[in-house]
Amino acid sequence: MPLKLTNTLTRQKETFIPINEGQVSIYCCGVTVYDLCHLGHARSYIVWDVLRRYLICQGYKVNFVQNFTDIDDKILNRAAREGCSMEEISEKNIIAFHKDMSALGILQADRMPRATKCLDSICALIKQIEANGSAYSIDGDVYFAVLKHKGYGKLSQRDLEEQHLNAEGRITNAEEIRKKHAFDFALWKKAKDGEPSFPSPWGEGRPGWHIECSAMVREELGDTIDIHLGGADLIFPHHENEIAQSEAATGKKLAKYWLHNGMVNVEGQKMSKSLGNFTTIRALLEKGVSPMTLRLFVLQAHYRKPLDFTNEALKSASKGWKGLNAALSLGKIHADEIGWPKERLLKQDAINPLKSYSNETTKKVSQQFIDLMNDDINTSGALAVLFELARPLRALANQLEHSGIEPLQKNNLEELYSRWQLLVELAAVLGLKAEEKQKRSLADKKINNHDTIEKAIEERKMAKSNKDFVKADQIRDELRSLGIQLVDKPGGVTDWFQD
Ligand SMILES: [Zn+2]
Repeated sequence: MPLKLTNTLTRQKETFIPINEGQVSIYCCGVTVYDLCHLGHARSYIVWDVLRRYLICQGYKVNFVQNFTDIDDKILNRAAREGCSMEEISEKNIIAFHKDMSALGILQADRMPRATKCLDSICALIKQIEANGSAYSIDGDVYFAVLKHKGYGKLSQRDLEEQHLNAEGRITNAEEIRKKHAFDFALWKKAKDGEPSFPSPWGEGRPGWHIECSAMVREELGDTIDIHLGGADLIFPHHENEIAQSEAATGKKLAKYWLHNGMVNVEGQKMSKSLGNFTTIRALLEKGVSPMTLRLFVLQAHYRKPLDFTNEALKSASKGWKGLNAALSLGKIHADEIGWPKERLLKQDAINPLKSYSNETTKKVSQQFIDLMNDDINTSGALAVLFELARPLRALANQLEHSGIEPLQKNNLEELYSRWQLLVELAAVLGLKAEEKQKRSLADKKINNHDTIEKAIEERKMAKSNKDFVKADQIRDELRSLGIQLVDKPGGVTDWFQD
């Protein structure tokens, strides 16, 4: 069975066929950087990380772009409250974002554009929409005219006329009255006193929210991409508007497949700040929930369904992870005792195209796993395969803890060894890897002073400018193994933080 994905555009499971053979371009809507990431972000970015890993395992070259919205009312309000600049708020939360995502084992996007750094392409896109007759400007504001765009409402399946009539009775504020249709939305907003603004053909101002994604998709990946990702709460208006803008400008389809993840509920209620049931990733990890437990918890539900976060469910995920972790850790902890060849032990965070297996059991199991993942990324099914695969390994781990190796047969160990190898490989597709009980303290790490880190960053920069990307990646990986994460920023600057 080929890979099938549920496309929100058609509400159907469709066979995935990329535009260019062997390559997949993906755009994922990122965060507005005014606060720490919460459980909803964790869910969204974990499931899309798994989609990306799976495509890589299937041999695709994946180009993954995710943005940062770094200009927005929420950031400005936060800056006013904290008495600092918009940039300071953004910078702080971008660093926090990288730290939290890396703790959860989420691969960094290939490119992470920021709205304030893409103003040229944003303005160019608005110009084009205007030239094509789908935008109008009023006194420094520019709006998208939804009635001029055939097909508006196709993603969210809304009827424009009906919605307009419903909305008319509710139009009260000044902006709503100026607009020609209740669904018309701002492409460019005229500058307000005391707010940061940027020059544009329509005067000083700032971009509307939706336009940045359309502009970034185009700049980073081209007019039409394979997959556009986001939370189900973005279907309307954000993604509907992205489609309208891009297609009005280019006359081409924006994305072939639209995938949306379900929302997170907490103890049966919608998660929101006002209800006080809001949990940040950081708070959860600080409470001692392990990153892999959180991953397992998220992946136990299908990505499109709502995910109910309860203490009970988290406890059971933690129990499940303990068992799986014991199996995954076998090669790390017990290799010497059971005589597994150390040089053949796999790196647990490597993502490689899946091998074809010769051994009957492993062949069958890996095929089961692939079939489930091909069925719209059925991670709960895939996890069940992992648990089954891990069962005798857990028993072995348990035995080694209590009574040692004696009663085991050598030929059985060979079988268990290939089982373990497969487990490590399949778990890596889901981003699950053996977790050490106690993180090594910083004192144990070889690198412990800032000068050494800065020197390594400088070396990497040199390697990059000499186009020696292998060496550059090597330096990055070395630092990562020591708990130092690098964050490449625009302008060739590299920031770092410690796990
Ligand atoms: Zn977006």
